[in-house]
Amino acid sequence: MTPHNPFILADGKKPTCMEMLQVIIDGEANDEQQEYFKNHMDRCLPCFKSYDLDMAIKRLLKSKCCGGEAPVDLMEQIKTQINQITPS
Ligand SMILES: [Zn+2]
Repeated sequence: MTPHNPFILADGKKPTCMEMLQVIIDGEANDEQQEYFKNHMDRCLPCFKSYDLDMAIKRLLKSKCCGGEAPVDLMEQIKTQINQITPS
């Protein structure tokens, strides 16, 4: 049960997992949202994995040390996502 979802937009639209994840990864989440998402990850394996992978790949890209350990298709997915979030 989730009595209150801090990610819900003003129009009452329920955000998808990916939308929540993007706010978190983007670093735009407030404390309440981070707390909610932490709890959400405990129950939502896809979110947990995506978050984990996002962070891993962000570190990877930052260090420019590509060991190629992450599956290629997932790498591409995340890269696309990161490119949307941080245009360079
Ligand atoms: Zn989720």
